[in-house]
Amino acid sequence: MAYFATALVLIAAVAAVATALRRARAADEVARGLGRLSEGRRARQVLTVPAGRLGAMVAAFNAAAPELYERTRRLEADRQQLRVVLGAMAEAVLAVDPRRRLLFANASADALFGLDASSVGRLMPELIRSPQVQDAVEATFRLNYPEAYLSEFALPGRDGLRPAPRILAVRGSPLPGDPTAGAVLVFHDVTDLRRLERMRQDFVANASHELKTPLASIKAYAETLLDWALEDPSVNRRFLERIDEQVDRLDALIRDMLSLARLEANQDVFRHEPLALVPVLERCVEAHRDRAEAGDLALTIDAGGLGLQVTVLADEEAVRQIVDNLIDNAIKYTPPGGRVAVVCSASAAEVAVEVSDTGVGIPREDQARIFERFYRVDKARSRELGGTGLGLAIVKHLVSSLEGRVEVTSRLGSGSRFLVRLPRAQAAAAPPT
Ligand code: ADP
Repeated sequence: MAYFATALVLIAAVAAVATALRRARAADEVARGLGRLSEGRRARQVLTVPAGRLGAMVAAFNAAAPELYERTRRLEADRQQLRVVLGAMAEAVLAVDPRRRLLFANASADALFGLDASSVGRLMPELIRSPQVQDAVEATFRLNYPEAYLSEFALPGRDGLRPAPRILAVRGSPLPGDPTAGAVLVFHDVTDLRRLERMRQDFVANASHELKTPLASIKAYAETLLDWALEDPSVNRRFLERIDEQVDRLDALIRDMLSLARLEANQDVFRHEPLALVPVLERCVEAHRDRAEAGDLALTIDAGGLGLQVTVLADEEAVRQIVDNLIDNAIKYTPPGGRVAVVCSASAAEVAVEVSDTGVGIPREDQARIFERFYRVDKARSRELGGTGLGLAIVKHLVSSLEGRVEVTSRLGSGSRFLVRLPRAQAAAAPPT
């Protein structure tokens, strides 16, 4: 009997120990599972499910763990995606907390404002010393979500980081909350856009002016003829000739403006094919021979023995327009008795065409600008010579469409040299044998 009682006690004790161990194991497994979840890893299901409250907790854990894991995984994926999107944005994005400390800056903001990883957490006025940026931050904090602050300002250049000033459009949005949790500012660099707008406005203004001048002359001569000069043989022919000249000028202007517009809109259907350059140069020179002789100028061409083997990948019409414009200018701006020379040379990769003259030359400060539309060193002289102010702008466009470069060197009073470099057409690859 006593043995039986002892056995019962022993069995009860063993059962109690086993239950305690199960409970402890379940608690350990839950703790381990929570640890994994907090590290963003998947938690294993707890298979030891004891009775009672602990068992209910284990069951709740088993039910919640996959859901929790899935949610954190999705959050982390969203965060990564957001980081990639912000990193790839051309706009500079800054987030600032209510104490004006930097919370976040994307790669474009780092580049624009010279920030790096150590900038996060530091005060904005310390990081970006621009009163306009600080104004934008403060103005954004004065707004209520979802209002937005919009502005545009010039950010001065800084050595090394940002040598030229930039024009920035900023949009500042406060974050939701009362008081707000911070502000997000997006800076869009609109420098090129504004420059293009400006160029377009200038072009329209210049073009209207250029067209108005010959029109005004035509009108004045026509009125004078109608008023009295038609019957006066000493002037009527001369006035009609002036009208004819002005019409030619209008025609040249409109033709150049159309060529430029077509070039800019990529509408010219040039077919760039391997083209033997020297014969084209020779034809251009010959086409100007009479004008050169009329101006008492020596016009020469030197292709250094290069023959048909020098080819460029270009449309003949494009090359002709480039060379014609350069020879035409050289003749226009060289006084009688001078020389105009066309020289062609080639290296393995490029062909160089040089058009030089012994003419009036171009002041150093104007040399960078003569390729701009309607820019002329001496307006009156250019007009008198029938220039439109567009020739070199067309040359520059055409040369860059051929992936080449054009440069000028000139000395006032001694002459100018325009050098066009074009890539040589690669010899067609030998067919596989
Ligand atoms: P334009 O029709 O006035 O010649 P271009 O665009 O061809 O217009 O040239 C712009 C300006 O560059 C000219 O007005 C002239 O002042 C200057 N220029 C161009 N080529 C020469 C040259 N060979 N010698 C001196 N000045 C030149």
